[in-house]
Amino acid sequence: MSEPKDESAAPNFVRDIIADDLQSGKHQQIVTRFPPEPNGYLHIGHAKAICVDFGLAKEFGGRCNLRFDDTNPVKEETEFVESIKEDIKWLGFEWNEVHFTSDYFEQLYAWAEDLISAGKAYVDSQSPEEMKANRGDFGTPGTNSPHRNRSVEENLDLFRRMKGGEFDNGAHVLRAKIDMASPNMNLRDPSLYRILKAHHHRTGDTWCIYPTYDFAHGQSDAIEHITHSLCTLEFEAHRPLYEWFMDNLEVPATPRQIEFARLNFTYTVMSKRKLRQLVEEGHVGGWDDPRMPTLSGMRRRGFSPAALRNLCERVGVSKRNSFIDISLLEHAVRDDLNEHSPRYMGVMKPLEVVLENFPEGHTEWFEAPQFPGREDGGGIRRIPLTKTVLVEQDDFLEVPVKKWRRLAPGMEVRLRYAALITCKEVVKNGAGEVVRLICTWDPEAKGGNPADGRKVKGTLHWVSAEHGIPASVQNYDRLFTVESPGSGDTNFLEQINPDSLETLEGARVEPALAEAAAGTRIQFERLGYYCFDQDSKPGALRINRTITLRDTWAKAGKPG
Ligand code: ATP
Ligand code: MG
Repeated sequence: MSEPKDESAAPNFVRDIIADDLQSGKHQQIVTRFPPEPNGYLHIGHAKAICVDFGLAKEFGGRCNLRFDDTNPVKEETEFVESIKEDIKWLGFEWNEVHFTSDYFEQLYAWAEDLISAGKAYVDSQSPEEMKANRGDFGTPGTNSPHRNRSVEENLDLFRRMKGGEFDNGAHVLRAKIDMASPNMNLRDPSLYRILKAHHHRTGDTWCIYPTYDFAHGQSDAIEHITHSLCTLEFEAHRPLYEWFMDNLEVPATPRQIEFARLNFTYTVMSKRKLRQLVEEGHVGGWDDPRMPTLSGMRRRGFSPAALRNLCERVGVSKRNSFIDISLLEHAVRDDLNEHSPRYMGVMKPLEVVLENFPEGHTEWFEAPQFPGREDGGGIRRIPLTKTVLVEQDDFLEVPVKKWRRLAPGMEVRLRYAALITCKEVVKNGAGEVVRLICTWDPEAKGGNPADGRKVKGTLHWVSAEHGIPASVQNYDRLFTVESPGSGDTNFLEQINPDSLETLEGARVEPALAEAAAGTRIQFERLGYYCFDQDSKPGALRINRTITLRDTWAKAGKPG
């Protein structure tokens, strides 16, 4: 692996198992897979699974397949297949092979017939309600189906007729004959095939029976010679069934299933059902709305793939499910952007400042470093100073509070990289609102360094009014106001943060950004990290605030 390991990397027990299996010679090379169901967009939780599946394969010189687990024709769409591929590539991973579980439908069907022939599967014709009632529960053993002892011939005949389309949805299911009294509910004669007369996004109308997740998953792993089948903890109780299929079928390999904890975050929701609801009911602009925990949303917002990979590494891989504080994600994002985002200036809510002793029509150019913190400055950009400049409305107070170091009548401040200015006069409109400041500048202090060495403490960001480029800026905040939306009896939709999106149409940015490409990530000094939206173009800049410079939630528990 090319990237240096983060020093703060947390334990990863799957890494240890793989290292042991290679060391002991159990495997010469490992093969993993990432198995999304194409029924939605990937979210940050999936990023963890991707980092584990692809990341460990890469780290140990193994292979990782992308397998679309498309056994449920009703909810799946090609749009999701494409977005999933794009998101994985964006995260920085490559698959060795792409497969679809639907490619294995013939083989899976043949294995189902093998089980029937061996007397290990039967067609059950109970109604779904009867089947549910006869399953029992954790304290009560189930009851055998009256159809459990059908002959092999009868079962084969019924199963073939199921496949042939003779029956309606729900009329029959194929079940494994295991143990209706097993303490593990998954072993109480689990369903292997159900009738679903639905169009499949790849196989069309070829099939009207579809394998269940349990019947398809392990066998697909075996077909692909997966060595380590990594999944999340909710499948732990399915493992005995996974192994039962391996033991009772002629499979070409015997993968090992290993479960790890899901990644969950505070202040967001991650179930696809809820994410879909947010999209379909219009609470957000789409799956890629920058407030969504989807990878496409985070990409649009300006989160970098490296930040997400680092986060997954820091969280580690364990067997204990937990909620991770969203601020950990935000820290990872800030760390990475701080390192990689060139600095610029932009004024979000402009206030006009006229420099009365600055020559009319003149432009004074200054050079400013892209990375002021670095010794070599990391490159430069040129910044024009003109007679009229724009500063942030928030940087002026007519009656300053204690320790105010920004603009106020009579006060001198620095315009970053360029000048020292002193406020002489405040111009108001008829409504008493401040519309303009009249200031003087010190022509002896070009660049902002006074000749006499006097101290000027406040430094403001600014842009030239003549050269500043208009931009529409979107400020995003957490989508929910509470740590665990939807917990208890509350509807998660009622806990949406009403201030999660603020649009500033009047922002102006320095001219060096006029041609910035969509996707460009920058820092606006003193404000935060920003990313040019995918719809941004020269002449119509659209900029998303990725995150503020500091955590505004930490102290107040609310946006500041
Ligand atoms: P959801 O329950 O939100 O619908 P899912 O688990 O059904 O998600 P899949 O498409 O089946 O979504 O997931 C593909 C892979 O990603 C699976 O191996 C799954 O275990 C893993 N995965 C899903 N959510 C998370 C999560 N929050 N943390 C870690 N891995 C996850
Ligand atoms: Mg799933």
